[in-house]
Amino acid sequence: MRYDAPAQVPVDEHFPCFMNTNELWQSALGELELKLSKANFTTWFKNTFIASFENGQINVAVPNTFTKAWLEKKYHRDILNSLQTITANGVRTIIYRVETRQPSPIHVRMPNEPLEPEPFVDEQPFRTEEAAQTSSGERTTGDLTLNPRYNFTNFVVGKTNELAHAASQAVATQPGTTYNPLFIYGGVGLGKTHLLQAIGNELLRRNKTTRIMYVTCERFTNEFIDAIRTGKGHEFKDCYRNVDLLLIDDIQFITSKERTQEEFFHTFNALHQRNKQIVLSSDRPPKAIPGLENRLLSRFESGMMADVGTPDLETRVAILEAKCKERTYFLEKDILHHIAGAIQSNIRELEGALTKIIAYHQFKNVQPSLETIASLLTSFQPTQLKKTITPRQLIQAVASYYDLQIPDLLGKSREKRLALPRQIVMFIMREEMKTSYPSIGNELGGRDHTTAMHAYGKIQTNLKSDEKLQRDVELIKQRLMAI
Ligand code: ADP
Ligand code: MG
Repeated sequence: MRYDAPAQVPVDEHFPCFMNTNELWQSALGELELKLSKANFTTWFKNTFIASFENGQINVAVPNTFTKAWLEKKYHRDILNSLQTITANGVRTIIYRVETRQPSPIHVRMPNEPLEPEPFVDEQPFRTEEAAQTSSGERTTGDLTLNPRYNFTNFVVGKTNELAHAASQAVATQPGTTYNPLFIYGGVGLGKTHLLQAIGNELLRRNKTTRIMYVTCERFTNEFIDAIRTGKGHEFKDCYRNVDLLLIDDIQFITSKERTQEEFFHTFNALHQRNKQIVLSSDRPPKAIPGLENRLLSRFESGMMADVGTPDLETRVAILEAKCKERTYFLEKDILHHIAGAIQSNIRELEGALTKIIAYHQFKNVQPSLETIASLLTSFQPTQLKKTITPRQLIQAVASYYDLQIPDLLGKSREKRLALPRQIVMFIMREEMKTSYPSIGNELGGRDHTTAMHAYGKIQTNLKSDEKLQRDVELIKQRLMAI
């Protein structure tokens, strides 16, 4: 695909002659880096370089077709602007091409210099030789829990999940090459498991012999502990280290399990060294996982990190539309809008509400109307915790979220790592469970009611500006809703 700047711009003559193409690209990227998030920037510009620059045309080499499409679609304007500014309009056209050779010292080709043979290749073949040799011809999915319902076709893409979706597709197309590991993070019910499984299903669709292991972190931990107990450590290692794709869901639960972390570290290295793809999901970014060893943290951050966020209204409507279509059930647009407006934070709940609505109307054999929908939706109050949540469950949830022992959380120490979670407990008790200040004090190891009042006020104020705190409180609430 070609992109042409206005035709009359002068060609090459202002290109600073002291600059080689490598420096030119670095300067252009320098500008872009300021505009984009770090995750976005690294994802799209890692392993890109200017392969040639002649007659106002720049060939930008990119590592895969996927980056090519993305740069063309999303960043072309910015890249062109940057390059034009630096070269005083010396760049007219940019062509993005997939090139697998490493960037070498690049020079600007002189007009009479002979052309080099075309070094570009389009897409890498999916199936590696190694994968072909090791496969036994069987469909192997390790845990056998890949659910074909989770695929890319039925994943609705919106602004808050497009990066995670795009990265997942890239990984499914070229496993082990570009983004390894891929780390997907975000709140409950926002599509992480869906994406992980879609990667697995897509790889399997392309190559039936790929060995895929999908496992929750909890299961990984339990199997590891069992293997040690029953002297089957070797089998465990063989099982996890001989796959082409390892998908671990909810990796945040690896926290403070030292031996599991150690085992996982070695599994990770064994796979990574052989260019086997690893994809992890978590409810928060690696840095925010308490008790995660530094060496794992740096491994998790070394590939690609992509978040999934709460979808906007438009995307929620699109998701409802897609789910209706899947179930061959029709709902009017205004009804879809009404549902999407009532349930905002979680796609799982959105689906749950839809299921309930469809079941109700089919069972009663009545036409859905705004009135019937509104009355069904009253039971969906996602921001309200269930009345049945006890203070003990809340304390337990906060302790586990921050990886703390309950006696420490309730104890006297004012260490920051304890004080903040303690204040969050008090805040949620007041805000969500409407507990009186004296009772909050009591539940929190016999503290004074003024301490509870102070904690409530402090968290309430800080929530307005502190994004990390907002995320923590939201995730804790989500976990409580799932109890
Ligand atoms: P998470 O693992 O982040 O908690 P899930 O992947 O289990 O969330 O998603 C919850 C439900 O919402 C699943 O049924 C999933 O299919 C659906 N879902 C999530 N995101 C999307 C999306 N973008 N398009 C369609 N369905 C989605
Ligand atoms: Mg999940």
